[in-house]
Amino acid sequence: MQFTDQHRQLDDTVTRFVQQELNPYIDAWEKAEEFPSHEVFKKLGKLGLLGLKYPEEFGGAGLDFSYSMVMAEALGAADCGGVPMAIGVHTDMCTPALARFGTDALRREFLTPSIDGDLVGCLGVSEPGGGSDVAAVKTTARKQGGDYVINGSKMWITNGLKADWCCLLANTSDEGGPHKNKSLIIVPMDAPGITRQKIHKIGMNSSDTAQLFFDNVRVPQRHLIGQEGMGFMFQMMQFQEERLFGAASSLRGLDKVIDLTIAYTRERKAFGKSLLDNQVQHFRLAELRTEIEALRALTYRAVEMYVSGKDVTKLASMAKLKCGRLGREVTDACLQFWGGMGYTMDNLVSRAWRDQRLVSIGGGADEVMLGIIAKFEGTLPKGQH
Ligand SMILES: Cc1cc2nc3c(=O)[nH]c(=O)nc-3n(C[C@H](O)[C@H](O)[C@H](O)COP(=O)(O)OP(=O)(O)OC[C@H]3O[C@@H](n4cnc5c(N)ncnc54)[C@H](O)[C@@H]3O)c2cc1C
Repeated sequence: MQFTDQHRQLDDTVTRFVQQELNPYIDAWEKAEEFPSHEVFKKLGKLGLLGLKYPEEFGGAGLDFSYSMVMAEALGAADCGGVPMAIGVHTDMCTPALARFGTDALRREFLTPSIDGDLVGCLGVSEPGGGSDVAAVKTTARKQGGDYVINGSKMWITNGLKADWCCLLANTSDEGGPHKNKSLIIVPMDAPGITRQKIHKIGMNSSDTAQLFFDNVRVPQRHLIGQEGMGFMFQMMQFQEERLFGAASSLRGLDKVIDLTIAYTRERKAFGKSLLDNQVQHFRLAELRTEIEALRALTYRAVEMYVSGKDVTKLASMAKLKCGRLGREVTDACLQFWGGMGYTMDNLVSRAWRDQRLVSIGGGADEVMLGIIAKFEGTLPKGQH
């Protein structure tokens, strides 16, 4: 990827934002198991950071996707994974389909205020019955008068407690099979019939996660994104940006875990020398740094191809898979080198170990990524997913 001065300026702006507006508060937000998303998003909106890739007509900056990835990588300087994830859900997971396929009226009503930081969005795909098998979602949206009437439940929804709107995947028909009977619908979260329940997690604590319940929730039919029956397809497209965001936003956090571990093991003495002077430690850290660089190269290549209009399903799945696995490897190896200090709660390395564990599960588990890659390789047995 060729970085321009504009990319570098963006990187500086986001890094400064992380250092001044996020990191001083993250310990408190982690303890509270939430962060003030409306306040933080408004500040990001004022800096023009919530709509980098979206059309200027709707308040965006009209830049290509490479700028979103520079922002994702810079957000990785945050002292936790939860806040960058919550921002990514808003910028790269619940808005791409709306921006690409929503009507102008729908974009003015939901995209523009989300880019300005006045509204917080969430993405409702996963359900209590399962998240990996997206085609099997059970939530329904049935036409009645001029509305859709929505019934069902969504699980693990990031920003779910505070979101003002949800990009919801629901079955709008019984016909056409599981890939053609679904639609994406924008649901205002203050609609009567919606209840939300907080989910407590082992990591990503500053990001709020909720189960959402929809009981005869009425939404005007004009809230449909694009055509009926295209929801599964739109969501698969939306996943590409989600997976690339996941990979890019992990890179700097993993580098930081290595930096912190080098500093700590250099100072810490055992058996008359620095821990870092043990070959097992400096070799392992050198190896892991190499792996992070390899993941960076893979991610940049996928982004470059995406920007040039190519299908990057395979490369984005590879980047997401590698990121999940490497995140576990780096944080686990480093935690070990911190000894007992690594096993304490208020340590950035143990926080990264808990936060990074999600990457192999959320947004498509490692095994789902392997299935997609195998499909492209032509090695997946027929009928398997
Ligand atoms: C903190 C957090 C935030 C999240 N945020 C959101 C959000 O904002 N919006 C949203 O819609 N969802 C969100 N999710 C849901 C997430 O995408 C799902 O958890 C994920 O897709 C896995 O679904 P599941 O948990 O139902 O696991 P299941 O589908 O039950 O799968 C369980 C395990 O089975 C294995 N597995 C699955 N499929 C296969 C296969 N084909 N072959 C072999 N093994 C397989 C994997 O190891 C997988 O981890 C979030 C999840 C978490 C934990």
